[in-house]
Amino acid sequence: MKLRSIFLLMGIIVSNMAIAQEPLYPFTFFTNSSMAGDHFFSAVQVNTPSKIYSIRGRLPVNSAYAHTAGNSLQLEYNSDPSGNWTADIFKPEIRGQDFFITAKYLSLWIMNNSVELSGHNFPVCRLIKKDSSYSNPVKITRTKWSKWKQVIIPIEKFNVNAADIIGISFSQNPGSIGKQSLYIDDIEFLGDLNEAAFPKPVISKLKGYSKHIDIEWPVITDSNIRYVKIYRYFDKIRLSAVRIQDAWSNRYSDYTEGTGREYTYRIAYVDKMFNESKKSEPVSAATQQLDDDAFLDMIQEASFRYYWDGAEKVSGLAKENIPGRRNMVASGASGFGIMALLVGTERKFITRQESIDRFLKITSFLERTEKFHGAFSHFIDGPSAKVETFFGKRDNGGDLVETSFLIQGLLAAKAYFNKEDENEKKIREAITRIWHDVEWDWYRRYPDNKYLLWHWSPDQEWVIDHKLVGWNETMVTYLLAIASPTHAVPATMYYSGWASQDVFAQEYRKGWGQTSNGSMYTNGNKYFGIKLDIGVSNGGPLFFTHYSYLGYDPKQVNDKYTNYFTNNQNIANINLRYCIKNPGGYKGYSDSAWGLTASDGPFNYSADEPVPQQDRGKIAPTGAISSFPYTPGASMRALKNYYNNYGHFLWGEYGFKDAFNLSQNWCSALYMGLNQAPMVVMIENYRTELIWKLFMSNPEIKEGLKKIQDLNTP
Ligand code: CA
Repeated sequence: MKLRSIFLLMGIIVSNMAIAQEPLYPFTFFTNSSMAGDHFFSAVQVNTPSKIYSIRGRLPVNSAYAHTAGNSLQLEYNSDPSGNWTADIFKPEIRGQDFFITAKYLSLWIMNNSVELSGHNFPVCRLIKKDSSYSNPVKITRTKWSKWKQVIIPIEKFNVNAADIIGISFSQNPGSIGKQSLYIDDIEFLGDLNEAAFPKPVISKLKGYSKHIDIEWPVITDSNIRYVKIYRYFDKIRLSAVRIQDAWSNRYSDYTEGTGREYTYRIAYVDKMFNESKKSEPVSAATQQLDDDAFLDMIQEASFRYYWDGAEKVSGLAKENIPGRRNMVASGASGFGIMALLVGTERKFITRQESIDRFLKITSFLERTEKFHGAFSHFIDGPSAKVETFFGKRDNGGDLVETSFLIQGLLAAKAYFNKEDENEKKIREAITRIWHDVEWDWYRRYPDNKYLLWHWSPDQEWVIDHKLVGWNETMVTYLLAIASPTHAVPATMYYSGWASQDVFAQEYRKGWGQTSNGSMYTNGNKYFGIKLDIGVSNGGPLFFTHYSYLGYDPKQVNDKYTNYFTNNQNIANINLRYCIKNPGGYKGYSDSAWGLTASDGPFNYSADEPVPQQDRGKIAPTGAISSFPYTPGASMRALKNYYNNYGHFLWGEYGFKDAFNLSQNWCSALYMGLNQAPMVVMIENYRTELIWKLFMSNPEIKEGLKKIQDLNTP
C-alpha cells in the first residue's frame, strides 16, 4: 500500500516524461474558491507596521464582489514605508493536469473598492518559481473605482520561464503609504488574446433532482471559447450568474439548496478576454422531494456518469481522475467502472443497446491493448492502446493487481450480457479470451515462489519486486489467480502468499508503519469493543473492504480465520467508531461524516486509516458510501449529510468530489476513477446484490473459492 502512495506522488514528479500528445489545459491560478472563508491555496506575510487582512494566514474569499460568480480574493491592506506585506496565491496542483497552453500573458481582473485615489499605493506583482524564489516585480497601475478591470501583462516583463511558475504574489509597492481595498479574480496565463466568434448557445438537457439541477450543453470544440457562464433566474425577471464552467466540460450541476422548486436557466459562452455571447433560450426544471430509493438512484446515476460520458474517448474506459489526463485509461478504475456501467444499464440510466455498443468498444479496445503475459499495464494511452508510464519508467509493463480489478469487472459483464444476441455473444467471447490470456502463473516468477508479484516489465523484468501480501486491496488478485481455468496458481498460495505468516510477510506488514497488530495476518484484538479476526493495524483504510468485494460476494468468501463479510463489517464499524471518537479533534467528524480511506488530499493523495498517525482530517465520501452493504444505516446518514449539508461545495457533475478537509477548509477539485464506481456498485450490492450475483455466477469463481476452502478440511 505504501508503494501505491509513493507511486502516486512520483506520478506528479515524473509526469513530464510522458510522450503522449494530451490536449492542453489552461493555466489558472484562481477563478473561484470552492470554500468560503479563507483561500486554501494562499499565504499571507506581513511586517508591521504594514497590515493586511487575512484569515488564518490566508487571503479572505469574498462572495459579495466577484468578477466571475461565486467569489474573488480580497486584498485589503495598509501599507507603511517601514513595513511590508505579501500575499502569495498558488496554482492548485491537480493530478494529471500536466499539459498546459504555452503562456504568453498573465491576465487578472481587479476591482478597486477604495475611496483612496492615490495610484502609487497599488501593489506590485511577481511570479513565484518552483524553487520558491520570486520573479522581477511588475507594478500594477491604478484602476477606476468600483469597476472590474482586466490587467494583462506579457510574461517577458517578469523575465521568467513560464513552465517554472507555481504561483503569483502581490506585495507592497516599496515606499507606498495608506489603505487600499482590492478584489482580485480570474488570474491565469493566456497563450494568446484571441476573441471568439460565438455560435448561439443552447441548453441541451436540464434535469432536477433533490436539491440540484443538472445542465448540459453540446460539446464545445472552439478553443477560443474559454468558459460557459450559467445564469439562473432568481425571480420572474431578474437573472444572475451562478457560476462559470470550463468549456472543456459540457455539463454543470447547480446545487440550489431548495427542494420542490422550479428553476429557470440560460447559458452564455465566454472567451479568454471575457467577451460574452448572447444568452441561450431559457429552460426550466424543478427540484423534487425524493424518497430514499430515488435518492440512492440519484447518487448512483451521478457517479455512473463518470464512466459513461466522462470516459476516455477511444476506449470508452475510465480515466484516472477528472479533471486530469484526458487520453489516459486507468485499468483498475476501468474494471470498477465496467461494473458501474452494468448498474447504470440495469437502472436504465442508459438503454441495453447503448450499453452493448459501449461494451463492444471496450472489449475490442482491450483485445488490441498492449499486454504483458496477458496482464494489463496500470495506465494505457487511449489513442495508441499502449502502456503509459504515468508512475515512472520502471512501471512500463504488467500490473497484476490492476489487471485483477479489470478482470473482476469483465467477468461481471460476461454474466450480464447473457442473451443469444450476436453482439452479446461477441462481448462474452471477447471477455473469455481476455480472462483466459492472463498468465497469473507467470507473475509467480519462480515455480515454487510463495508469493505473486505485483509488476513485470518487458525490459527490466522484476525490478520493482513487490510481493503481494495481505491484508490489503489485493485479495482479488489471489482469488482470481487461483480461479483461472488456463493459468492458475495453486490454491495453497492463498495461505503461503496472501495470508502468509512467514517472517518476510510479518515484517512487510509491520513495515506499513502503524502497529505490529495483524502482522501475522490474523489479528484477534478488540478495537472499540469490536473483535477483529484479520487485518493489519485496526483494519486499514476502508478501500481494503471495497476493491476486492465489488464482484466477490464477501458473504461467500471464507478461510480458516474468518468470513469476509463479517470481517469487513467489523472494519467499517471500527472506522465509524474511530471517527465518532475523533482523537485528532478534526472539524466535521461525526456519526454522519466518517470513513477514512485512500483519496486526494490537500497536500497529496494519501491512504488514511483510523489511527492517529494516518488520520489527516480528510474525509472521502467513498469511504462511508462504498461501505453500504456493511453499515447501511451509518452509510445512509453520511450520504445525506454530505449531500444536504455540504452539497454546495462537495456536489458536482459526477456526484461527490473526491474528498474534503474542513479543518484545512479544503475540498478536492476532482473526481477519482477508483472512488466513484465503488459507490455505485456497493449501493447496488446493498440494494439488490446485482453485481455480486453476476460475478459469482461465473462457475470458475465458485470453484476457485472451493479450492481454498477444501484446504481447511483435513
Ligand atoms: Ca471568481
